[in-house]
Amino acid sequence: MASVLVVEDDPVIRTALIEALGAHGHTVRTTAYGFEALREITEGAPDVVVLDLGLPDLGGLDVLRMARGVSRVPILVATARDDDAEIIRLLNSGADDYLVKPYSAGQLAARIAAVLRRSQAASGPVARRDVLRVADLTIDRTARTAHLAGAELVLTRREFDLLAYLAEHADQVLSRKRILTEVWRQPYLEEPTIDVHLSALRRKLGERAARPRYLHTVRGIGIKLVSTP
Ligand code: CA
Repeated sequence: MASVLVVEDDPVIRTALIEALGAHGHTVRTTAYGFEALREITEGAPDVVVLDLGLPDLGGLDVLRMARGVSRVPILVATARDDDAEIIRLLNSGADDYLVKPYSAGQLAARIAAVLRRSQAASGPVARRDVLRVADLTIDRTARTAHLAGAELVLTRREFDLLAYLAEHADQVLSRKRILTEVWRQPYLEEPTIDVHLSALRRKLGERAARPRYLHTVRGIGIKLVSTP
């Protein structure tokens, strides 16, 4: 069972997918729009995305590339073309797999199961590691200590949790909503709550919002810790 985001503007296909995926025990969210899909990917954190390439507002390939900028979620792309050039382009743009329209519900379910197996196998050891190293930062989650270029950072509990979470997801833009949900465990808090802790963290890392090294704010989307400051 997984949470599946279906990005598809054809209402007939959308309804069919909701039924087919529901029958396999998946929970399904849908949208017809690329921008909405990007928001869902960052805020809803689905387990897998099924992305139609022909969308009304954004090119599906653009959605794919932008999604890759913010998330490692497995993405299955549904395309009407099955020529070699198209498939190569999709895989090179960050698709984990593809489906050629029209595809059967059985094939979709099997491909979803396959990408989920791969992503769970890939994230397993990562989830268990206790020491994160990102450029000059070393974060020991067992000892709850953080060092920058060998010097210990004196952090509050929230600052430590925020830094560890951002480092664990280095180079991904994380929405404030997602951070409130996964670090604070309080998604209903006001999003600016984070900014107070973020600016304290910046100060301790010796950087400023106007000239960031590690901690970058991506306007309107969220926050990212970069691995190549
Ligand atoms: Ca379409």
